[in-house]
Amino acid sequence: MKTGIAIIGGGPAGLAAAVAAREAGVEDILIIERDNELGGILNQCIHNGFGLHTFKEELTGPEYAERYIEKAEELRIPYMLHTIVVDIGEDKVITVMNKERGMFRIEAKAVILAMGCRERSRGALNIPGYRPAGIYSAGTAQRYVNMEGRMPGKKVVILGSGDIGLIMARRMTLEGAQVQVVAELMPYSGGLKRNIVQCLDDYDIPLKLSHTVIDIKGKKRVEGVTLARVDENRRPIPGTEEYYECDTLLLSCGLIPENELSSQMGVELNPVTSGPVVNESLETNVEGVFACGNVLHVHDLVDYVSGEAKLAGENAAAYVKGALPKAGKGIPLKGENGVRYTVPCTVDTERMAQKQIVRFRVGDVYRDSCLCVYYNDKCVSRVKKKVMAPGEMEQITLLKSKLQEAGDLESITIRIEQE
Ligand SMILES: Cc1cc2nc3c(=O)[nH]c(=O)nc-3n(C[C@H](O)[C@H](O)[C@H](O)COP(=O)(O)OP(=O)(O)OC[C@H]3O[C@@H](n4cnc5c(N)ncnc54)[C@H](O)[C@@H]3O)c2cc1C
Repeated sequence: MKTGIAIIGGGPAGLAAAVAAREAGVEDILIIERDNELGGILNQCIHNGFGLHTFKEELTGPEYAERYIEKAEELRIPYMLHTIVVDIGEDKVITVMNKERGMFRIEAKAVILAMGCRERSRGALNIPGYRPAGIYSAGTAQRYVNMEGRMPGKKVVILGSGDIGLIMARRMTLEGAQVQVVAELMPYSGGLKRNIVQCLDDYDIPLKLSHTVIDIKGKKRVEGVTLARVDENRRPIPGTEEYYECDTLLLSCGLIPENELSSQMGVELNPVTSGPVVNESLETNVEGVFACGNVLHVHDLVDYVSGEAKLAGENAAAYVKGALPKAGKGIPLKGENGVRYTVPCTVDTERMAQKQIVRFRVGDVYRDSCLCVYYNDKCVSRVKKKVMAPGEMEQITLLKSKLQEAGDLESITIRIEQE
């Protein structure tokens, strides 16, 4: 089987990339999705707050996904459900598997990686104690409650203050559970400020920063957990232990981009994001292979996922039509002094659009500081920011005209400086 553009993953990123590629004139597109429906993780996010940027409306996750699914259907973009990609070669030969056809191969001219991310598991977190029933990742609990109509438990402690954990604190409360506390190892929350206010403060659920679970009681089922305050090296401080009786522990301790397929095919990964290193076209080091959405870096808002995926779809379309100039060296983009990474990692002034959005996260909470952009050693922009936090994605916009005016640059650096 052959296709022009193969898109791995039918979540919001895969769908927006497919729509953009079709609108850019590519007929031959195939979305490959392992689940039994399109929409990705949004299908289990039944709360509202999606789409404020893209549609200027407040939608639920499934409603947001539906807009793109309808568009894909309207444009007659082919997709395969219940079909998992098990391997991709550097030659863009994709090995897939489904019930009807078993294992088979698809040859693609271009590939868009849109596999999303997965939650960090308890094993990776090394919590001491037994392994009783009642410990779930927040995303699994979200699926149980919102899609399968089952309650994981009644008395809940949540470890980790990522957005999914915060949203599940509210969701479990609305379903009648008693959410006692959200404990966060870091001195700041990993989630959006709006989720702390709307999901914890509004329901009087305490958030304990610089705290972790040091023991889980219960052999068959969770009976309780012990929390302790941690020092600046994240080590529990003796004497600060507090015991919480509970039957459920939800873990919301970070998301990891799903890049096993990407690294197998030789795509270079950024150790900070665990996502592919991409240039301004969102193309990886493997020519004709693009990446977007949470597989590239974990996003806070799905609207940004859709915007980024549109760019990947347009560039993949240009690539298969032979209209994308060959990637040059590009100017390296660097994050410094609190800026943890940048997406993209390089910009080629020939290939970039008139405006290039660069997204990143900061490594700590910064108040009353400045976000500065340097061309080589020269500061070209200094924007005052009241607060920047790791839970919220930041962005700057680079202008092609300004970069071309600047001539040959060795680097563009984004850094945080005192006001
Ligand atoms: C558990 C969880 C809950 C979340 N809840 C929220 C929330 O409440 N609010 C919010 O704003 N954001 C939430 N997010 C973030 C949300 O994931 C993103 O905003 C957005 O869904 C990312 O889109 P995506 O298309 O990149 O990834 P996804 O939506 O994850 O889609 C990726 C798709 O790729 C498919 N796939 C993966 N590997 C393969 C393969 N090998 N073969 C075939 N198909 C494959 C998956 O089945 C999936 O459908 C959540 C994320 C997770 C993991």
